[in-house]
Amino acid sequence: MKKVVFNEERCKSCELCVQACPKKILQISKDKMNKKGYRPAEITDKSKCIGCAFCATMCPDAAISIEED
Ligand code: SF4
Ligand code: SF4
Repeated sequence: MKKVVFNEERCKSCELCVQACPKKILQISKDKMNKKGYRPAEITDKSKCIGCAFCATMCPDAAISIEED
């Protein structure tokens, strides 16, 4: 199984990953904030992730990686 891993400190809340995800399971966090003051992207339902890596490819800040579970 592949899983999406976020480096929250690199995220700038641009939402490109949210828009890129074909399963619509990414969102900008409503309650977390990183040290730069941005709300990081997060996954809402890991079980629906197909490991396509569209999110990681889209992220301009290389904040997302796809790893083997
Ligand atoms: S790997 Fe694909 S399905 Fe999983 S969160 Fe990223 S864009 Fe969505
Ligand atoms: S594309 Fe990258 S920087 Fe933009 S919201 Fe997603 S994780 Fe954050």
